[in-house]
This record gives sequence, C-alpha cells and structure tokens, in this order.
Amino acid sequence: MDGGCAFPLLSDPAGYVACEVDLTDHCDQCAHWIAVFRNHFPRMLDEAANHGWSGARDEAIARFGRWLDDAPNMDRLTILDCCIERENVLREVGIDDVYVHAKQLENERALAVLPSLLEQLDAMDDADRRAALIQGIFAGNIFDLGAVETADMFDNGATVDFRQVRAKLKARPWLIDNLDRWLARTSPYRCACVFVDNAGPDIVLGIMPFVRDLLRRGTHVLLTANNTPTLNDITVTELTGLLEKIAALDDTIAGALSEGRLELVSSGNGYPLIDLSTVSRELADAVTRLQPDLLVIEGMGRALESNFNARFTCDCLKLAMVKDAGVAQVLGGEMYDLVMRFEPI
Ligand code: MG
Repeated sequence: MDGGCAFPLLSDPAGYVACEVDLTDHCDQCAHWIAVFRNHFPRMLDEAANHGWSGARDEAIARFGRWLDDAPNMDRLTILDCCIERENVLREVGIDDVYVHAKQLENERALAVLPSLLEQLDAMDDADRRAALIQGIFAGNIFDLGAVETADMFDNGATVDFRQVRAKLKARPWLIDNLDRWLARTSPYRCACVFVDNAGPDIVLGIMPFVRDLLRRGTHVLLTANNTPTLNDITVTELTGLLEKIAALDDTIAGALSEGRLELVSSGNGYPLIDLSTVSRELADAVTRLQPDLLVIEGMGRALESNFNARFTCDCLKLAMVKDAGVAQVLGGEMYDLVMRFEPI
C-alpha cells in the first residue's frame, strides 16, 4: 500500500521485513504455495458466481494462472505477493467481496451461541477461564475459507460446532505452547492492541470473549481490522456493526464501547497477511496515543506467515491454528497444530 506508516510498536522498523521467507529460495515451498493459490482460486470464483457474479471465469483463471506461472522467476516472491495479485485479479473481474454472504451467515450463527458461551466462561475460576479463552481463539480460527481443508467444512452453507471444535483441539503441549508463561502473568495490562482475523466464530466466539476478559481486568482495548475485504477476514466496517450487536448481548462490551475503553480502527490492510511497515495513519496515531503494553496478533496469515519472527517494543501474543500443510512443515508440525507464542519484553 502507498502512504502507509510503519507500525509504531515494531522494535526495529528499519530492519523489519514482512514474510521473511523468499519463496524463490525454496523450491518446495514455492511449488506448494503456487499450487495452493492456483487450486483455491476457482472456488472463489464459484462462490462469487453462486451469489450473482457473471464475469468470465476462464479468463480470470488464465489471468491469475499466467502470473503464478511467472512468479518463481521474480527476484523475490512471498506469500503476501500472491495474496496481493489475487486481490488485483478479483477486482479486475468485478469481484469485491467473495465471502460476504458466508461472513454474514457465520456472524449470525456465532452471535446465537455467544450468550451461553459467556455464561459458561463466567462460571469458571480465573486460571481455567484464561486457558479456555485461548482455546476459544484457536477453535474460532478454524473458520478459514482461504485454506482448502477448512473451507471444505463450510461448503454449501455447512457450519462447524464451536464447542465441538474446542473440545477436539489438540492436547497440550501445543506445537508452540507458552500458555503457562501467559497464565503466570497475572497483573493486568494497561492497553492491548489486537489484530483480528476472520469473521464469524473467530471474532465473535474467540476474540471477543478474550477481549471482554481484558476489559474486565481494566485493560483498554484497541481492535484493528482490515480496511478492505479479503477471503473471510472481517473488515472494519463489518466489525463496527458486529460490535453493536455484541454490545446488545453483553453489558461489559456495551459499557466499554460507551466509555471509549474499547476502540476500533482500520489497520489499512486488505490481505490475510499483514505488512507492518505500511499500516494506516489511523492505527499508527491510535497506537502512539495509547502506547499499548500488549500486542495480540491472531491468525495463521498475520501471526505465522508474515510476522512469526517480528519483534515488538511491548509484550506480544501470537495465536493461530495451523491450517496449511506448508506452514505446518516450516514449523515442524502437522495440520491443526496450535501455536501460542507469548513474548514478554
Ligand atoms: Mg483470515
């Protein structure tokens, strides 16, 4: 993006690189990702066609295919480059938001589950609840229409039961498991900046209960979401409306919104991965004003693929479920492994 600002919490803005892995240096990974993008793209066009798009499907596939054919010959190639080109092609053929209907459907389904989930969480003791909140973030993160295996679970309006997913999560120790370190930190944070990922159960049943717990401990929370649609990531506009619906169901969220202790800004991003060297002015200003002492980066794209080794000037929590065989291989794990990296400064 042009005109973006460096994210103010980067510990080394000059040395920061989003997506450290240059795929042109790694033949196996390069082939894997090109196949992932090539195979997934037609299903995005099909989803758009199911909801009224009537553009030229074959031409769109050929257009993106030619770019993918040439991509290994570029000087440098990252997964983010592939994401950017995919959005370029979609916009060129007149598709703005492939999963708008899927996001709305999953938001409504998740809202129906939220009150009983919050009741269940509130009945737990402190340590159990804090662990359950992290597990809830993992479980919600399964709503990912960018990864082929999880997208299959949500095909044709099908859904996934949040509590069942949470109950079936891989047992500890997770692939990266800093839960004990996180639980040992009992003093509240002053302000948390939270990069959210997907719509539906991810934001409603995973992130928002976690945020609500932070608010109850007195933490000011700055949420930041994508500016424009990509895959099933929630946009800042969608999240604005969703927060009102959540506030209607929960007094803590309602109170924090009205007191200004829960804020939402656009990250300026429009991809499932994020380049923190170019965030929105709005986010940079909010972070400079609030000086967060906790940063939360959620989701495979943002936390693992683009910022796994990024370092920050405050404590950082990176959380994701692994939903791609290539990501699993790089991390030395397996599909559906869980990553909770807590990096106190
Ligand atoms: Mg996502």
